[in-house]
This record gives sequence, C-alpha cells and structure tokens, in this order.
Amino acid sequence: MTARILVVDDIRTNIKVLEAKLTSEYYEVITASSGPEALESAVTQKPDLILLDVMMPGMDGFEVCRRLKANPETAHIPVIMVTALGDPEDRVQGLSAGADDFLTKPVDDTSMFARVRSLLRVKLMLDELRMRERTSAALGVISPPVPSLDEDYASARILVVEDNPRDQLRLQRMIEGQFQIEVTADGADALARARQQEYDSVVVSLGLQNPDGLRLCSQFRTTEETRNVPILLLVGPDDQKQLVKGLEIGVTDYVVRPIDRNEFIARLRAQVRRKRYQERLRLHYQQSMEMAVTDPLTGLYNRRYMASHLATLLSQSASQHGTAVLILDLDYFKQINDSHGHPIGDEVLREIGNRIVRNIRGIDMACRYGGEEFVVLMPDTDLDAAEVVANRLLQAIGGKPVTTKEGLSLTVTCSIGCTSQGAGDTAESLLKRADDALYEAKNGGRNRIVFRRA
Ligand code: GH3
Ligand code: MG
Ligand code: MG
Repeated sequence: MTARILVVDDIRTNIKVLEAKLTSEYYEVITASSGPEALESAVTQKPDLILLDVMMPGMDGFEVCRRLKANPETAHIPVIMVTALGDPEDRVQGLSAGADDFLTKPVDDTSMFARVRSLLRVKLMLDELRMRERTSAALGVISPPVPSLDEDYASARILVVEDNPRDQLRLQRMIEGQFQIEVTADGADALARARQQEYDSVVVSLGLQNPDGLRLCSQFRTTEETRNVPILLLVGPDDQKQLVKGLEIGVTDYVVRPIDRNEFIARLRAQVRRKRYQERLRLHYQQSMEMAVTDPLTGLYNRRYMASHLATLLSQSASQHGTAVLILDLDYFKQINDSHGHPIGDEVLREIGNRIVRNIRGIDMACRYGGEEFVVLMPDTDLDAAEVVANRLLQAIGGKPVTTKEGLSLTVTCSIGCTSQGAGDTAESLLKRADDALYEAKNGGRNRIVFRRA
C-alpha cells in the first residue's frame, strides 16, 4: 500500500532522516518546515498521513493538529505526532488536539512502519466513504458534521476484555464515569456481545489466555458484524513484536502498561470520535441512496427508480402474467391549491400517497410519477387482477374525504388508466398505453377507470 506522507519539522536534518526511511519503503514524501506551511500543504497536496513534530517555533504541533482536525478538508487525515519527550502529559495534550498516534524521537523503524500502515488502512476506509459522500453531495445532500473534539463521550459504549481480576478492576476504576463500560474475562463472550450490539471501542488485553489476545483481535476482524469496531490493545513494555503483529492484523490503537489514566481516556476518546465519524458517513450514504430513489414529499419511489424497475420487470420473462401498470391522476387538483394554498395541496398529496400504498399488494410498487400523478406497477398480474386493484384505489381515494391537520375536509377523486403487458411491450409502450387510457378516463368525465388490452 503506497501513500503520500507529509513530514513536518522545523529542523532540516530531522526531515531528512524520516524522508530517507519512508522513501526506502516506497512512500512518497512531501515536507513542510513550519506549522502554517503544513496546514497549507495538507489542503493543497492532500497527503494520506502526516508526521508532525511537536516542538516548532511559532505555531507548535498541537495547534497545527487542532487546526487540521477542525477543517473538514483535512479532518480525516491521520496525524502521528513526533515528540522528543516520552512524557505522558505531552501525549495526552496531543490526543486532546486530535492526534491519532505518537512516535518518540529517535524514531524506531519497526514501530513507525507498523503505525503508518495501520493508520493508512483506516484512511483508506474513510476515503472510500468520503468518495461516496461526494457523490451524495452532487445529489444535493448536505454533508454530515466532522467529529468535534468535545463529543459526548459519556454515552460511548466500551467493552473491556481482561481475564486478570486485579487488572480488570483497575481498568474499570480508571474509566468509570467517562464511558459506558462493560467488562468480560472471556473472549468468546466478548465476541458474542459485540455481534449483538455496537461498541464504540473494544479494549483487549494482549495477555488474555483463552483465546490469546491477538487471536481474539483477529476473530473480531474476520467476523462480519465486528469488522469495523475499533480495538485498543493493552500491551507490556516488552511486547513490541506482538504489538507490530497486532497492528498488522487490524488493531486500531494500543496503550503500554503501566497504563497512564489520562492517556488511556484520551486514546479511547479518539477511537470514539473516529467510530462516530465513520458511522455518520455510512448512515449519510444510506440516506442519500434512499433520497436518490424516493420522492421526498410522499416517500414513494420516484419516477427515475420506477422506470428502471419497470425495465427490470419486463426483462424477466419468468412471470406467467407479465406486468400490469396503472397511471392515476387526481381530478381538478389545481383547484385544491387555488382554494386552500399549496401547503394544503401537499398535505393532500401525502395522504393520497398513503392511501395508495395501503391499498396495493406487497409485491406491487407505487411511485410518484409527476405532480399529482402516480404509477402503480403490478408484477405477474393480468388485466382482470389489475382491475380489482384499480377499483379498490378509486374507492380508497374518492370514497372518503381527506381531513387536513387544520380540520378541512376535502374530497378528491381520481382518474385511472390501466393496462397489462403484451408481447413486444417495452416500458415506454406500456406506460404510453396506460397514459392513453388515462386521457380517455379524463375525457369520459373523470372519477373513473379505463382499461386497455395489449
Ligand atoms: P385534471 O383533472 O385535468 O387532472 O385537472 P388538474 O387540475 O388536476 O390538472 P392540472 O394538470 O391542470 O393541474 C395539476 C396541478 O397539480 C397543478 C399543480 O399546481 C398541482 N401540483 C403539482 N405538483 C404539486 C405539488 O407537489 N404540490 C402541490 N400542492 N400541488 C402540485
Ligand atoms: Mg390532475
Ligand atoms: Mg396531471
């Protein structure tokens, strides 16, 4: 997995060292020697990852990180802070500024590459979601907010998997009140719980016995429902090799024992933020997909989706009766708007949409074809069966007045053109015939159905 990495440091030699290491692993490296330069580069060069020095004159690394994470254009880029001090305070400050990870100078190659790879994997997933996001934006859907550094963390659900009773208690005390915590000593139980409900993060002790910690992490990654849950691994100071392995199999982050409480909390918060961001992007994508196929006023399918669905139905020759189609147009609807206003007209349209849905069969599909016109597709239906549905709709719409929120009682009738599929029919010819029938129904006096055989 190759990627573009932005290295930020005010000291030239430091840049050179990191640049050489990263280039030898075939990463593309770009550099910046100050905070403002880094901020600009992050926007214009779109790096996949940023290695950011903490100590810089003028704007320090923490401030740069805060600004990167506050800008929707750069918030998703993982940031690794490079610090000279191993001080937990420093790390906590960085995590609170939104940093994703830390490296201590002099930088150890193995851990650097493991972290770089693990964060690039996360970035890749976010990129995919953000790409869909742009498609939705093109459809006119508003973007979800980027995660804020002061999210509501108290509602986040954390599952801790630790089989040492004393450590279990200690961990629990550490984060009590900060998150919603559940604790288990059993890996199989952890996996079962995580399949049942979504956690914002799972904390796994590397020293777990049954199964061992890494195996449990791998099980989380290969199980459909838990594939995306962030995993925080608890490791000892001498577990470097296993940590690297863990990052390879998809552990998202880790804390080294003895655990610093503030760092632990700050890292969990970072996980929660990322998880929620991912979720927002995903949910947003679903909603925009729904928007792409539905009519916002009535919630029925839109014309575009109906047309493609009808084409699919006609291409399936398996059904015995073919597809029946009816077009339904409200009578003198303009008068409703003219007498009561457009909002009342909208209310009536919504109610008519509901009545249509309630009076067709599960396999039928209702769509809003245009302003006050609706189309119902009825798969595997001959004209006799379609007649039953059409009559029911005529009755359901015109037979009972619509009562508006303001208490108006309005009777709206409709005219219906109905036909069924014959040999050689296309979506266009079928809809055309139904439309001709509708025209005849209008001319014949409205509030009636006209049937056309193929
Ligand atoms: P006809 O019986 O010949 O169908 O008469 P009509 O008045 O229903 O037909 P016409 O095509 O003249 O007018 C349709 C009206 O539907 C005009 C338009 O204001 C109204 N309309 C179309 N879309 C909407 C909508 O989304 N909301 C509201 N409130 N009215 C709509
Ligand atoms: Mg009309
Ligand atoms: Mg009309």
